[in-house]
Amino acid sequence: MGLMNTLEEDDRQVAELILKESKRIEEGIELIPSENFTSKAVMQALGSVFTNKYSEGYPRKRYYGGQEWVDGIEELAIERAKKLFGAEHVNVQPYSGSPANQEVFFALMNLGEKFMGLDLSCGGHLTHGSPVNFSGKHYKCIPYFVDRETELIDLDEVRKAAKKENVKMIISSLTAYPRKLDFKGFQEICDEVGAYHFADISHIAGLIAGGAHESPFPFTDVVTTTTHKTLRGPRGAMIMCKVEDRLHDKYHKDSQKNLAQLIDSAVFPGLQGGPHDNNTAAKAVAFGEALQPEFKDYAKQIVRNAKALADELMAKGLRLTTGGTDNHLMVIDLRPKGLTGKGKELQHAMDEAGITLNKNTVPYDPASPFNPSGLRCGTPAITTRGMKESEMKVIGSAMAKVIDNHPNASVLAKIREEIRELSKQFPIYPGMGILE
Ligand SMILES: *Cc1c(COP(=O)(O)O)cnc(C)c1O
Repeated sequence: MGLMNTLEEDDRQVAELILKESKRIEEGIELIPSENFTSKAVMQALGSVFTNKYSEGYPRKRYYGGQEWVDGIEELAIERAKKLFGAEHVNVQPYSGSPANQEVFFALMNLGEKFMGLDLSCGGHLTHGSPVNFSGKHYKCIPYFVDRETELIDLDEVRKAAKKENVKMIISSLTAYPRKLDFKGFQEICDEVGAYHFADISHIAGLIAGGAHESPFPFTDVVTTTTHKTLRGPRGAMIMCKVEDRLHDKYHKDSQKNLAQLIDSAVFPGLQGGPHDNNTAAKAVAFGEALQPEFKDYAKQIVRNAKALADELMAKGLRLTTGGTDNHLMVIDLRPKGLTGKGKELQHAMDEAGITLNKNTVPYDPASPFNPSGLRCGTPAITTRGMKESEMKVIGSAMAKVIDNHPNASVLAKIREEIRELSKQFPIYPGMGILE
């Protein structure tokens, strides 16, 4: 072991597993809608000397020495994020999406208070009130659901429940909902009932930054996002908010803090210790990339590709929830194919065919979440590779073949070969070893 040994010299076991993972992504089709491929520049920042630094606190208000350059990194990330989203205040320290959401609850809600979130079964996230999550255990979640017929969020139902229950916060968000969110509509309800509006844009941040989805700004009080999904940055998150607390007199009369200060102190020292400065550096790089004009083309292509993939799947006789997609993702409803509760089996069959996606519940799924009746897939990662509409047709048709022939191992092996041929034409990290 030596400080300057390469990973290959130092640890063959780990190096080999990384190489195998590289091969898997190069030869397969990545359709998990929350995944993406970051640039080499982002990975270099992640693997930089900032991984060693401790810098508890905020720029110019730190608890450790040696902060000459860290402050510059964090301020750069904040300035770029503000520009990207038009946010008034940004905190780039959250370790990931789930901690960021905990921090919003910690800042704004007392234990046991009521809020609303999209139910997990209808496309919401665990941190939006699932009974097994902190959000559902320590706070009172009044879930809202999609309409049984249209499978769309019905804001009139949200309004009714918000008034009846007198909720303190409403979360507008999605992880498996294939349509646009009406942030303005949510804000009107929040104004009517005097609730905080918290938008979690983890899945769609890249689409918003690239102008392919409506922005929650200026409508919301607080916005969280992961940085590693459509935004294509390192694993991590950030919280954006207004500086002034619109509901200060109603909820925080005794506090001297404005909204920005409430959020910052919830992140540190409320729930976190030292920020991951290597991650902050990589966030700054990714935001810089997202500010380039090419990122707009990328975001629009994600949506065009999702539409093309959805069209092909439907043309091959598959049903998609809500009948299609407006964003980067879609959910295949396996029930009309007589495959109720077979999501897990189909996820494995897709793996065999070199296609990576995840099983998912469909709204009002009669089957259990462990064996649900849907498959969720999306286009952010394959769009990063440079794939366009014509490749979506090939992929969609391969997926339909998997679904129609899934117990047949030789068909799956043949599809895997086709998928490998297609993938080879779109190298992700050409010539890149483990870490260069
Ligand atoms: C992915 C996601 C999160 C959680 O992010 P992690 O980084 O996995 O903790 C939170 N909210 C939404 C809407 C998400 O899609």
